[in-house]
Amino acid sequence: MPFRTLIAIFAMIFLAFNSCSRRGPVPFAIVIHGGAGTILREKMTSEMETAYKVKMEEAILAGYRILDSGGTAIEAVKTSIIILENSPLFNAGKGAVFNHEGKNELDAAIMDGSNRKAGAVAGVTVVKNPILAAYSVMTQTPHVLLSGKGADEFAKSIGLEIVDPSYFYTEARYKSLMEELSREAKKNSLDKNPNNSSGTVGAVALDRYGNIAAGTSTGGMNNKRYGRIGDTPVIGAGTYADNNTCAISATGHGEFFIRKVVAYDIAAKMKYLKISLQEAATQVIMDELPSFGGNGGVIGIDTQGNMIMEFNTAGMYRGYMKQGEHPRIFIFRD
Ligand code: ASP
Repeated sequence: MPFRTLIAIFAMIFLAFNSCSRRGPVPFAIVIHGGAGTILREKMTSEMETAYKVKMEEAILAGYRILDSGGTAIEAVKTSIIILENSPLFNAGKGAVFNHEGKNELDAAIMDGSNRKAGAVAGVTVVKNPILAAYSVMTQTPHVLLSGKGADEFAKSIGLEIVDPSYFYTEARYKSLMEELSREAKKNSLDKNPNNSSGTVGAVALDRYGNIAAGTSTGGMNNKRYGRIGDTPVIGAGTYADNNTCAISATGHGEFFIRKVVAYDIAAKMKYLKISLQEAATQVIMDELPSFGGNGGVIGIDTQGNMIMEFNTAGMYRGYMKQGEHPRIFIFRD
């Protein structure tokens, strides 16, 4: 081998080793949300506030433990979301809102930023944890999005936990539907008017290996039309992850998030305008989305560990935990 080639190989090995050791292990982190909306301090009892905070902390810690023990971002996202889905407090899984017909139809999606693989389900009615069905679509099928009966059947066929639709009944959500229906009747309108009940859940994470992931799960919007699918399972609208830019999970009025392709728009701004995650999210959520008529928020993370929790509503259930730190949890704007 010529001497010059040998020198070049040594130089490359030295540089690669040097840059790795300078960077050190990636500081991992997790961010979660439990929905954005008209969440007002004066309307929240201290018991409710504590209940939300305790459940969010449990979800953050569960995801954090996965990352701490060397697990992947996608595993952490899935684990945190399952805890929120199993709580009646959030509009996902157990606490899902009702559609106009008084039924629960649930949507969920998950995306792995390391390979941009994604899985989603829409309009499932008997799957206890829709995020697990979304994950299985990603890992066990050649597809990205399964809907309705087919998605329910798929979940059954791979042995996910199946529940009777009555499992999703909660008094609070049923009352919200009744209130909305009587408001509608008073207006004497034939329009089915879905409204934004906060409580959609989501998580984004960065693992030790420098990979990011995002997941979102929801019951959709109160009084939505039968068969309506929101932004949550639409990759690029409510959920997106790409190691080259960011991982995003959204919550808000889904129709606007679909039309504005919110999650991908934030990633695209980072990619093409070379701006930071924070700048991109602020532009989309605080400026462009409201001028379009949309309300809601996003959480996001990039491979450097920059995190965002941006929303244009009164509040957003949210929190995060960075490697070696304590969980931080918030509900209201200040
Ligand atoms: N984005 C969800 C949907 O439109 C609802 C929400 O986040 O509140 O289905």
